[in-house]
Order: sequence, then structure tokens, then C-alpha cells
Amino acid sequence: CGVFGIFGKSEAASLCTLGLHALQHRGQEAAGIVSYDGKQFYVERHAGLIGDTFTKTSVLERLPGSRAIGHTRYATTGGGGMRNVQPFYAEYEGGGFAIAHNGNLTNALTVQKALQKRGAIFSSTSDTETFLHLIAMSEGKDFLDRFIDALKQVEGAYSLVGLSEKKLIGARDPLGIRPLVLGDLDGSYILASETCALDIIGARYVRDIKAGEVVVITGKGIESHFPFAPVPTRFCIFEYVYFARPDSNLEGRNVYDVRKRIGEELALESPCDADIVVPVPDSGVPAAIGFAQASGIPFELGIIRNHYVGRTFIQPSQSIRHMGVKLKHNPNRKMIEGKRVVLVDDSIVRGTTSQKIVQLVRDAGAKEVHMRIASPPTMSPCFYGVDTPEKAKLLASRMSIEDMADFIKVDSLGFLTIDGLYRAVREPQRNGECPQFCDACFTGEYPTRLMDQEVDSKIR
Ligand code: 5GP
Ligand code: SF4
Ligand code: MG
Repeated sequence: CGVFGIFGKSEAASLCTLGLHALQHRGQEAAGIVSYDGKQFYVERHAGLIGDTFTKTSVLERLPGSRAIGHTRYATTGGGGMRNVQPFYAEYEGGGFAIAHNGNLTNALTVQKALQKRGAIFSSTSDTETFLHLIAMSEGKDFLDRFIDALKQVEGAYSLVGLSEKKLIGARDPLGIRPLVLGDLDGSYILASETCALDIIGARYVRDIKAGEVVVITGKGIESHFPFAPVPTRFCIFEYVYFARPDSNLEGRNVYDVRKRIGEELALESPCDADIVVPVPDSGVPAAIGFAQASGIPFELGIIRNHYVGRTFIQPSQSIRHMGVKLKHNPNRKMIEGKRVVLVDDSIVRGTTSQKIVQLVRDAGAKEVHMRIASPPTMSPCFYGVDTPEKAKLLASRMSIEDMADFIKVDSLGFLTIDGLYRAVREPQRNGECPQFCDACFTGEYPTRLMDQEVDSKIR
């Protein structure tokens, strides 16, 4: 998901709309904005893309005020439906407040059950609703105290923006799994999942919010709190591989730079005799450029993407996902016919995309089709806000690399090693005792306890 917040700027909801538009790649299912005009909160939540819903003047007119937070949704827990669309708005004894969340809590069900025992009633199936109840039931003296009290009771990944009658709050979980950055627009503070959302409104990047940090923005400025004992951080390495937009800078690294270096490492680790390097658009493009530059094999757009189809992976049902891949890619026969092609993509999850793309390229007359993947095999599901399917559906958890090559029908298949990935983010190697990143989907080493999973069967 993508989150955005702005404090003290007229037409806050319009700026929020632009920010969310830049964060659309983090979730296309639905979006919402909550604004505050000093007297009252206003809530708009709609299914679909920002450009189709929030750009209408009528919608923006219903969101007055100089403070706003927003969210682009990509369903990881709780499934679809409007009741799970964020920001969530609620009123507790101290007034109204709204919250938008990127990430996933790993103990939400456990906490929810305990809250229900105390009489709480939940109106969504989203883990994020847990925060509302924890804040409302807290005995903290003000909103900030209650907010921090709530954070102390949850586990997992969260980058949050919250809006109360007096404050805009931003917070990252103690491991800093999901990103959150701070920006400044003519003296007004902005919070956003990625820097590309600052660029679109001409805001200046100030800094990344730190892991475990809670920032409070009011008319008087900004203050920082660190309510947790510091621990080594574990930023999601998959943000660099796939999730973030390539023009964003996260944790001091430009995402496009990292992806190109990933391609270079891949070419060194897993070289290939081929005539052309072809990216699987769009997610494979930067790594394919790096691969081509390091190998000296020409880069060609051998597959053309139709841009009017969303990310196939994000469509909730399997049948639509199947259709989506065909709608999305077409081979450029002129480029491919008679050639030895090396395809570069960011990852193989279920293997559906790769299987179809390889077939397309063969049907277009390729002499050989090789595949190089810009990450290690995806072996384990993510419980921190990226929608990987359960373990049994991950191709790499069921098959050896050789069997995967047979399954997607390529002449050869190569993946980046985990150390290659760490080199691409400019770490000499993965620190086995305490990895510098979360890389659980590749290694199965989860940086937190998985409380809800202990009672569930998803990873068994
Ligand atoms: P597959 O067909 O193998 O399941 O999907 C792989 C494709 O989906 C890759 O090209 C990649 O761009 C995209 N993808 C990989 N991982 C994820 C993910 O966790 N979430 C989403 N939304 N897309 C992914
Ligand atoms: Fe990122 Fe993978 Fe960790 Fe999920 S499991 S937070 S996708 S590195
Ligand atoms: Mg892709």
C-alpha cells in the first residue's frame, strides 16, 4: 500500500491526490482520503484508481481543509470490499482521528480476539482496524500517548500516518520494514511512502523517518519520539527488487540504481550466450539494462506492454490473473525472430507470468529462450504487506531450479544469489547472524515472531 499525509497547506486533499497518484503502483484496488478543516473530518473512500475517482472536483470539494492523509490499497489481509478501504476514521472520547497503514501486523488476529473479549466490535476484516481499538481503549493521557501505547501492543510491519484534531503523526515499526519519508513544501510537512510522491508536488525531501520513530507534526513544527529500545533495522529488500518505483530514493539508495546493479550482478553470476537481452516489462527493465551493459549483449524491447492494464499480480482472482497476462504483453516479432533471447524479470512467484511470456517469445520465433531472474528464488510468503501467495503456491518452494526451467520451458534459468542481491544494495555480503534487511521471502528467516501464523497453517 501507499500512504501520504500533509499538514498545514491549503487544498491539502488535492495535494494528497497527487501524492497518491504517484504511489498508485503500491496499490490499485481502492483509495481513500480523510481531510480536516479545523472543525470537522471529511472521509472519501473509493474503489479503483486515483485518476478515475479522486480527480473529480465534486470529490475534492467534499474534502476541505489544510490537513489530509490518504492511502492506496492493495489487499494483503482482509480481502476486498469497501469496508476495508483506508484511511479508517473513528471517534474516541478525545475526538475524531484517522489512520492509514502500509504493512501487515503479524499478531492482529491474536490482539483482535483479546479486544473482542473486552467488548470491542470490529467492522472490517483488516489488521489495521486493530489500531483504532487499541487507541480508543488506551488509558494514555492524549492522542500521542494512546497512539504509542497502541504501537507497543502490535507486532509486524507498519508505516503509518495518523491525523487527529491537532496533529499529523507518522510512525515506522522498530525494524523499519516498510518505507516512510518526510518532505517539506514551503514550510508544510509531508509524509509519504516514497520520494516519488514528494517529487510530484514539488516538495523537498527532508529525510527518511527512522525505524521505530514516531514523528508528530503540528502548527508549531515537528517533534520526534523513540518509544522502542533500538534494534538493528530490517528494511524490506524486495522494495528495491520490485515494489518501489524506480525513481524513488529509499534509505539513501536510488531504486533504479540498485535495480541496474542487480542486473550487473546477475550477468556476472549467471552469464548467458544470447543475441539480445529482453526485459519483461515493466518490472524487469532496469535489471535488464544492467544485465545488457555488464554482458555487452544488446538490450532490445522485444516485448511491448499495454499500459492500460494494471499489474496482473494484484488482481485478486486466479482466473483474472491468467487473462491479465495476455492482455498485457505482446512480443515484437521483428526483434525476436531467429534470435537467442535472454529474458530478464524481477522475480518468479507462481510462475504463471514466466510461463506465458516464454510461450509468447517462442511463438514469435525465438531460436533459444533463456531466463534470468533479478532476485533469489521466492521460497516463502511475506507477512509484512507484500501479497505473495501461500508457500505451496510459490513455484520455488515446490521445485528445484532445473524443474522450474522445465516448467516454464526455457533453455536455461538463472537466479541472482542472496549475496549478489546484497552486493547490489552495496553491502559486502549478507550478515548471517543479523541480516541487514528483511529478506524472508528468499531465505525464510523472518525478522519477527509470527504470532498469528502459530495458530494458522499458512507456512506449514
Ligand atoms: P508470477 O506469474 O510468477 O506469479 O508473477 C511474477 C511477476 O509478478 C513478476 O514479473 C513481478 O513483476 C510480479 N511480482 C512479483 N512479486 C510480486 C509481489 O509480491 N506482488 C506483486 N504485486 N507482484 C509481484
Ligand atoms: Fe519484503 Fe520479502 Fe520481507 Fe516481505 S518477506 S518484507 S517482501 S523482504
Ligand atoms: Mg513483472
